[in-house]
Amino acid sequence: MSTAIRHDWSLAEVNALFALPFNDLLFQAQTVHRQHFTPNEVQVSTLLSIKTGACAEDCKYCPQSGHYNTGLERERLLEVEKVLRQAQAAKEKGATRFCMGAAWSNPKQRDMPYLIEMVRGVKAMGLETCMTLGMIDTEQAQSLASAGLDYYNHNLDTSPEFYGEIITTRTYQDRLDTLQHVRDAGMKVCCGGILGMGESANDRSALLMQLANLPEHPESVPINMLVKVQGTPLENVDDMDAFDFVRAIAVARIMMPASHVRLSAGRSRMNEQMQALCFFAGANSIFYGDKLLTTDNPEADADRQLFAKLGIRPEQRQDVSDEAHALALADAIKEQQQAPLYHAAN
Ligand code: SF4
Repeated sequence: MSTAIRHDWSLAEVNALFALPFNDLLFQAQTVHRQHFTPNEVQVSTLLSIKTGACAEDCKYCPQSGHYNTGLERERLLEVEKVLRQAQAAKEKGATRFCMGAAWSNPKQRDMPYLIEMVRGVKAMGLETCMTLGMIDTEQAQSLASAGLDYYNHNLDTSPEFYGEIITTRTYQDRLDTLQHVRDAGMKVCCGGILGMGESANDRSALLMQLANLPEHPESVPINMLVKVQGTPLENVDDMDAFDFVRAIAVARIMMPASHVRLSAGRSRMNEQMQALCFFAGANSIFYGDKLLTTDNPEADADRQLFAKLGIRPEQRQDVSDEAHALALADAIKEQQQAPLYHAAN
């Protein structure tokens, strides 16, 4: 089975993967997964909304769009101090990456100094940093990257063909341009989409084909299952079949073998068995505890229990500096020296 990193997928090939018998598809995905990742590790991120609601865009699935009345309370940009306190709490809960999301079309220049302070502060805690702020230009991407931003999230959402049914205020090309600015600035890309918005099976294939045929695969690929929010135009769309969702995870894993495939929004609607199937299909990243932007997310305790049942460990960061390792080791030794067992052993 070839697991080369490819960027030349055809729609027919992607459709053929989706058409495989379920067990064959999952077996293939799990085999690819094991060639690229430690099989029982899942990367854990925490997401904080740093600016909620009143967004100028009209994404039909989104309760934060100012175009729909969903009863969501709008908030201003959070103070840097508050963000840093939340990041510290996330770190204590075991998160290795802290994602900060703002409901904006694009950040204004006046916001940039605050955003840069947030990135610097979170980075200084030894956490990986990720932001999602809407469209960014070359200059903004450069300043965020210089401040130490590791990842920028910007989703393609759906296929180019279905896109106009979901968003009219910005184009598919606008999204691709932002992704290019992020890459040009040297940051890692987090980019995926949302399933269950009424798209066809072909649209799902076309979305995954867009992602996998980017010049570089996104390092993180969030696959969301639509959370239907009252007041949004998609509140009554038909539910997506759970097996189709698991299939999409498996196809994403096969097409982007070295990317982290993230089970994202919609996870709280999945039972443990479905989440386990998604992990088997190659999902290896989740948001942990607290809230996933404005949609509820299973609490950290439930996640820990599920990990224990499945024998899954949270993935540790690979790229922690020697200095950070030395400090952590010194701390651990100090702790041990104070522990009664240390004295008993001497
Ligand atoms: S998805 Fe993002 S850009 Fe679209 S309305 Fe919601 S917050 Fe705005």
